[in-house]
Amino acid sequence: MTIRRLPEKLINRIAAGEVIERPANVVKELVENSLDASAGKIDVWIETGGKALIVVADDGSGMSRDELLLSLERHATSKLPEDDLEHIETLGFRGEALPSIASVSRLCITSRAKAGKEAWSIKVAGGKMFAPKPAALAHGTRVEVRDLFYATPARLKFLKTDRTEVGRIQEALKQLAMAYPEVGFTLKSDGRTLFQVSALKGDPVEIRLKRLGAVLGEDFIKNAFSIRAEREGHTLSGFAAVPTYNRGNAQHQFLFVGGRPVRDRLLLGAVRGAYRDYLARSRHPVLALFLDVPPEFLDVNVHPAKAEVRFRDAALVRGLIVSSLRQALQAAGHKASTTIADQVLEKALPRFYPQGGNRPSHGAFSGLQEPLFSGTAPTARVEMEEEDQHLEQFPLGAARAQLHETYIIAQTRDGLVVVDQHAAHERLVYEKMKKMLSKRGIERQGLLMPEVVELDEALVHKLLKRSDELAELGLVIEPFGEGAVVIRETPALLGEVDVKGLILDIADDLADMDESLKLKEKLEDVCSTMACHGSVRAGRRLTREEMNALLREMEATPHSGQCSHGRPTYVELKLADIERLFGRR
Ligand code: ADP
Ligand code: MG
Repeated sequence: MTIRRLPEKLINRIAAGEVIERPANVVKELVENSLDASAGKIDVWIETGGKALIVVADDGSGMSRDELLLSLERHATSKLPEDDLEHIETLGFRGEALPSIASVSRLCITSRAKAGKEAWSIKVAGGKMFAPKPAALAHGTRVEVRDLFYATPARLKFLKTDRTEVGRIQEALKQLAMAYPEVGFTLKSDGRTLFQVSALKGDPVEIRLKRLGAVLGEDFIKNAFSIRAEREGHTLSGFAAVPTYNRGNAQHQFLFVGGRPVRDRLLLGAVRGAYRDYLARSRHPVLALFLDVPPEFLDVNVHPAKAEVRFRDAALVRGLIVSSLRQALQAAGHKASTTIADQVLEKALPRFYPQGGNRPSHGAFSGLQEPLFSGTAPTARVEMEEEDQHLEQFPLGAARAQLHETYIIAQTRDGLVVVDQHAAHERLVYEKMKKMLSKRGIERQGLLMPEVVELDEALVHKLLKRSDELAELGLVIEPFGEGAVVIRETPALLGEVDVKGLILDIADDLADMDESLKLKEKLEDVCSTMACHGSVRAGRRLTREEMNALLREMEATPHSGQCSHGRPTYVELKLADIERLFGRR
């Protein structure tokens, strides 16, 4: 490795910019340097949120005395061997970070080149560089940044509380740790260890998953499926969570391009697109995706902090992400409900067995001291119709009961299923509408008595403006004088509809909706509104036949494991699970 000054011509093409705004930027730049130096272990110490001290120590390739001197010069780098901005394979390439940090702090770098006999130390403070001195260091590089922004009080004022800055540092380090499972990381803040992961060896996919578990929590692993896809040299890998494992913001989506953490709009948009059918707009899936793009198809030189990138073939990248996520989501369609069952058990079990996992006695959790009954339990026999036995062979089983006019309880061959009839119905309506729309259009049924609905003139206007689109979705609306509309037909698949409620809610949807959006693009919203007023909504008593019909439809419908808002539509408990609940296992 040799550091050299970049030619003037190249410097002018580099997206220059002050990248050091806060302590987390310093940590990111220094840790990236350590990673570029092939470190196997990187330790970070900070004091008072990084303002008083940041130390990054690594066991990487190190620097000689001369290299140390050069490393502090602007646009001196060892990383652009061919002056080729189209082929950047390292995290750094601009030769800007160290001089930038040096200009806003008191900096000391100690380093020992791999082949070197001795270590050297160099200091910069107040814009003055001191001559390198021999130092003691076994291997690698140790960078100390003291009194960040001491000479620029304005920037110091701009910082948030220490706690917030520590949080940002931790976030930056965790992201790099996700991308480099073969490297060990530690973070200590004011003497306390905040983060620690050891270097992993072995199969790349396995160690990546293990590292993600260490950073994002073991729960993520339990709920995640693996992604692997390739298109024209672009590869996508990583892990994405089932839709039911979602969060209120997109902060839990970790995207990497060429090992570089990015928050790129194109990528985030592609993720949103892939999950659109499964999640409400306000919910966000948790995932960590790693995209590798041939260097000539990628420009990382567009953003000073390198947080955004530019793809030569953006459509290909988007397509790759959307299609591989969708495919995996489809395959994982039924997984959601089993994970939920595990969660139910996990929540239930520790409460039932507070210490040491003893078997509970009868009434242990209802506060009763005496068993409810002693002796042998009467052997109750439930008469079982033959038809029912046959239905138990189906994955969602035979409907046995409806509880609270909301939940269907079905018996399966080896367990039981609880269905949220409303959520399930909503999903079915959505999937059917989608399918019908792509074929011959949505079937309508005429109302025996056309229904007049009165509403705000503004809403009437909004509804009538969309009447063609609504007709396509099975809802035929016509004007009816001032402040009213008349509804003549409704979507057949909704069954009996509460027309008035439906129209009022659809009008509200339209009021919230961007006028330029097509209703079809908001199909999930429209469908959930429609399903709310259809015949299987919550609070409606269903006959045994209706319940069984719903179960059979769910089995035949893709993605029926979650409603379009990412909630599960059913939970399955196997007999073994139930036995665990009661301490029989
Ligand atoms: P860049 O990373 O863009 O090259 P920097 O200012 O971050 O620019 O670093 C300048 C140079 O100093 C790097 O190119 C590298 O040769 C050397 N360097 C910096 N940090 C380390 C380190 N931890 N180990 C070895 N060399 C380093
Ligand atoms: Mg760098």
